[in-house]
Amino acid sequence: MPDYPTTKIGFTNDNGQINVRPLGIPGTDHGQSLYQIACSHCGHNYAANGTDIHLRKCPNCQDGRPSTTGWTL
Ligand SMILES: [Zn+2]
Repeated sequence: MPDYPTTKIGFTNDNGQINVRPLGIPGTDHGQSLYQIACSHCGHNYAANGTDIHLRKCPNCQDGRPSTTGWTL
């Protein structure tokens, strides 16, 4: 885990994906929880594990992986 504030609200990764809020839902990696991520390009919202936030791409406009667990807004 890099020393990087990816799980802080408002964090935006290099792909323009913004951490909106923790969802309070268990993630799919051990000890992880899910965060709501919003795309700054198209406004799409999806869920990602905390450890994946830095590398996620929008599933709607950047051909990224689908929302983790299938969560939708
Ligand atoms: Zn998008």
